[in-house]
Parts: sequence; C-alpha cells; structure tokens
Amino acid sequence: WKSLKDLQNELMRKSMHVGSLGNIRVFCRCRPLNTEEIAEGASMAIDFEAARDGELTVKSNGAPKKTFKFDAVFGPQSNQVDVFEDTAPFASSVLDGYNVCIFAYGQTGTGKTFTMEGTNEARGVNFRTLEELFHIIEERRGQFQYEISVSVLEVYNEQIRDLLVSGTQPGAAKRLEIRHVGEGIHHVPGLAEAHVNNMNEAWEVLQTGSNARAVGSTNANEHSSRSHCIHCVMVKGENLLNGECTRSKLWLVDLAGSERVAKTEVQGERLKETQNINRSLSALGDVISALATKSPHIPFRNSKLTHLLQDSLGGDSKTLMFVQISPNENDLSETLCSLNFASRVRGIELGPAKKQV
Ligand code: ADP
Repeated sequence: WKSLKDLQNELMRKSMHVGSLGNIRVFCRCRPLNTEEIAEGASMAIDFEAARDGELTVKSNGAPKKTFKFDAVFGPQSNQVDVFEDTAPFASSVLDGYNVCIFAYGQTGTGKTFTMEGTNEARGVNFRTLEELFHIIEERRGQFQYEISVSVLEVYNEQIRDLLVSGTQPGAAKRLEIRHVGEGIHHVPGLAEAHVNNMNEAWEVLQTGSNARAVGSTNANEHSSRSHCIHCVMVKGENLLNGECTRSKLWLVDLAGSERVAKTEVQGERLKETQNINRSLSALGDVISALATKSPHIPFRNSKLTHLLQDSLGGDSKTLMFVQISPNENDLSETLCSLNFASRVRGIELGPAKKQV
C-alpha cells in the first residue's frame, strides 16, 4: 500500500507534466558505487532518505552539508524503468506538437550515457522514449497520422558534425552551420534526415549515428566525453478528423563531461576543447536559467549548442535535464558543482542542510 504522502508525491510528479509547474524539469540521478570503489572502501557522500520528496543531502565526513531539491531524485537503487516512468509523458508531448529537449549533464563517469543510451540489457531514455512514441502512434492510428524522421549529430569544439554522413576523422567529417529561417525557426541546411517507419528502423539509424561518433578518434571514450551527442526526432502529425497539422522535435542530448580541468594542466588543442565545453555548458545553464526566471533576454547565440536548440528551448517547449552525480565522497567537489549548476538552472536551491538530531 502506498502512503498518502507517496500518493501526493506521485500526483505532484504527474501533474508537472501538464504544465502546472512550468516547462523546465530537473531530475537528479546518482549512480551506484562501482566494484573498484567498493573494494577501496569508498564512502557515500549522498543521503537519499528524502528522495521520494525530491530531496537529497550531501554529506561531508558523515555530517550533512547541504540539501538540494529537484523535481525527482533517483538514488543508486533506481533502475531504468523507474527513471522512465517519470520521463514517459514527454513522448506524448512530442506527438501533441510540443518541442522537447532531454539532456544529461554531469561529470564524466556519472552515468550520462547509461541514462540516455543505456545498454542492451538496461535500455535508457533514448530507446524507451522512441518505443513509447511508436506505441502511442499505434494507439492513435485512424485518428492521427505521423511521419517520423531522425538525425544524429555531434557538437565538438563548437562545430556541428553530421553523424549520419560520417567521414573518417572527427575533424574531417561534414561540418554544418545553423540558419535562421524565420519565425524563430532554425534549420541546419544539409543535415541528413532519415525517414523511419517503425521502432526498429529508428533505433538502427540512431545506433549508426552513435557508432560513427567514435570513428577516427584515437580514444573513443575520451572523445565521447568531450563532445555533445545529439539525437533529433522530427515529427509531422496530422489530425485526420479535423485536418490540423503539427510539427515538433524531440532532442535527446548526451552532454560533454562537466568536470573542471585546471587551466595549468592543459595546453593547445586540449585547452581549446576545454574552453569550448565550458563555454557551451555555461551557455546552456544561462539559457535555461533565463527561461526559468522569465528574463527578457535569452542568450541563445552564445554557443553552437544553445543556438542549435533555440527553437526547442523556451516558449511552449518542454525541457528535462538529468543532473548525473557520483555517490563517492572523493568526487564531492564535482558533485557539488553539478548540483549547484542544476539548482541555478531551476532556481530551487534549499540552502544549508537542517541539523540532524
Ligand atoms: P558518463 O556518460 O557520464 O561518462 P557512463 O554512462 O559511461 O558515464 O557510466 C559510467 C559507468 O557507470 C558505466 O560502466 C555505466 O554502465 C555505469 N553506470 C552509470 N550509471 C549507472 C547506474 N545507474 N546503474 C548501474 N551502472 C551505472
């Protein structure tokens, strides 16, 4: 049996998706300690006792340090199904004609790719959202008709690279620019779009794109942690009963690692890379926080990433950011940076933790 409080929380979480709390959500997800960390006797720096209320407390040397509140908190015990339960409503929003952006933000190794891409045994948000999309399309058959196409791209060093038309080297592949085509609509001329008829076709194209990401890089993991990987699902819908048409986009974004790299430690190409990542992640934070506080100026043009997503951030669009964290006390300073970033994005910081008695 669920307690009244659980039911209230569930209702609150469900109502978020119908717009009662605005269009920006932040979910926090913490990965479990891995086998090496357990073997080393690493201690957990996060307390998830109030996770059901969307709260987590960061501890330092066992003492509570700071409490954060998000729209949902998924502790190390949460699985892909739990996470998707709260993410699924975004799929119907896309089919209802809303633009949707889902991001994973955080330090490298905190589970951004696990949450978005997942594994064959534990599918992530990308697979499950697409599956839900095609499931709803099937349910609406006869009343609505949909055309779906997909693109896969990467933003690396402030350059857009089409991953469906991959070259041999990350730097040599087709580079694209963003064009404004009127009424707040942005387009990337020349970006490959593959029409897909069902889940299998869609997944195959997205996998092809993801695989092309590593081509030509000397260290595939390193490259993927230094670039933003973006899947875009474009939807054209027609209501067969009244002839009304909609066009919408779903962006699924696995962001570059947010870890800070000391300027003294990097030089040359790596320094440029680091500066570009910092620039685009802080531009993303600035844009979302300007949208959340309803600022009159939204600085979309400050990075390729925000410029690219401009027509899908703000307005009627729905944004979901996963802030991914590590439970390991050794990662505490990066974890606090990510949590502070996410709080700034939502303007929902709680302040110092209450003293425990
Ligand atoms: P990132 O994309 O942030 O660099 P990854 O998604 O590659 O991080 O995750 C790092 C490692 O941790 C991977 O081996 C991944 O399978 C594992 N991992 C991350 N999150 C979870 C989780 N919630 N449950 C189990 N394993 C996880």
